[in-house]
Amino acid sequence: MLASEDFSVPRNLLIHGVRVFDGTSVSSADSVLVVDGVITEIGTGLAPPPRAQVVDGSGGTLLPGLIDSHVHAQRPDHLAQALVFGVTTELDMFRPPPHLGLLRDAAATRDDVADFRSAGTGATAPGGHPTQLVTWGVCPEFPTVSGPEQAEQFVTARVAEGVDYIKVFIEDGSFWGQSRQVLSHATVEALITAAHAHHKLVLVHADSGATARAALDAGADALAHHPNDPDPAGDLLDRLTQDARFVIPTLKMSAAFARGRSGAEGGNQDLLDHSDLGPYIDSQTRQFMTAPRPSPPADAPKDFTTTGLDFAGVLRITERLHQAGVPLLGGTDAIPVFGHGVGLHRELELLVEAGLIPTEALATATSVPARCFDLHDRGRTRPRTASRPPARRRRSHHRHHRHPPHPRHLAQRHPLRPRRLPRPARNLNPHAPTVP
Ligand SMILES: [Zn+2]
Repeated sequence: MLASEDFSVPRNLLIHGVRVFDGTSVSSADSVLVVDGVITEIGTGLAPPPRAQVVDGSGGTLLPGLIDSHVHAQRPDHLAQALVFGVTTELDMFRPPPHLGLLRDAAATRDDVADFRSAGTGATAPGGHPTQLVTWGVCPEFPTVSGPEQAEQFVTARVAEGVDYIKVFIEDGSFWGQSRQVLSHATVEALITAAHAHHKLVLVHADSGATARAALDAGADALAHHPNDPDPAGDLLDRLTQDARFVIPTLKMSAAFARGRSGAEGGNQDLLDHSDLGPYIDSQTRQFMTAPRPSPPADAPKDFTTTGLDFAGVLRITERLHQAGVPLLGGTDAIPVFGHGVGLHRELELLVEAGLIPTEALATATSVPARCFDLHDRGRTRPRTASRPPARRRRSHHRHHRHPPHPRHLAQRHPLRPRRLPRPARNLNPHAPTVP
């Protein structure tokens, strides 16, 4: 099926003869019935109710709207471009006001854009990553955190802005041959404690084995990037398996810095030339995806396209994490150069390259992020009546444990609350593109 720019969906329709991916596997059903904008039945050979539109889904796959778990949306048209490629939710990982409000308003009022959740301003030290973006003039000024005594105030301000989770940066620059200011261990711990007191997940941007370990030591819930060291020393993989609730590998971003891959574009040309995807990349995104790389500013990261990341090593870490049962989430780190929406299709391919089977890769962009981010109204194809979460869940379940609960279960103790009521129907786009 091809993407469509017409997002209006009839209130009553029957899609038949279609392959149905339910968020974890391909079901045996071949028909999906939608009544009054809501999936009411999934089965085999269902008959259409009177006045329902009938859609022949032969040769296509119906799947939940895709969730990109690591983006940097700047303008509503980035959310619009994402939706064209079947990405119905973008989880943003750094967005200071005023863009935050602009994007949130667009998601709340427009039907032609992906839904939007955000960490708002991420916590970093004065002069720490990514304050260089302010110096370069591509990001407005944003508050930083000087010490643990400022942590509570920083988190409270983000909560007041309505952020959905908290992002913390631990990048000392060493991996990139630089020296950057970085939050102290005590500050990261204080930030995480404050965020958990507000029932917010904490995702840490850590780019190396050492900083990933520091994040886990401080109590981080999840990693917003893959550790890039090909073979992290010691027990890092064990620690990730044991202590990380989930990891967002952002392989497409790593591929952009990989030895022997397609340089800074990270394989953009394949996407631009793809017969099903290329025609739907808007002209501005196309410009970004094809632009030659500008000369980097003096303090930009060293050029890894010549020295290069060992991308095969990065893929091996992904495979081992997957085999160890760490939930992996599909995320692109989408800035315009990586392509909002379209980039997620490449990310899923890279996850398959790392050893996930295709339905497991699809789950990293549907049911798994929905579960990890407590988004109960999406990520699965199922009748609405079965999609409601159990009433605010088993809060007492862990209280009587003899042992401390597994960190991954903390999501059930501190569930993220949906920011607003579920919006039915508009995300149910039978024309969503299939994965190439
Ligand atoms: Zn990012």
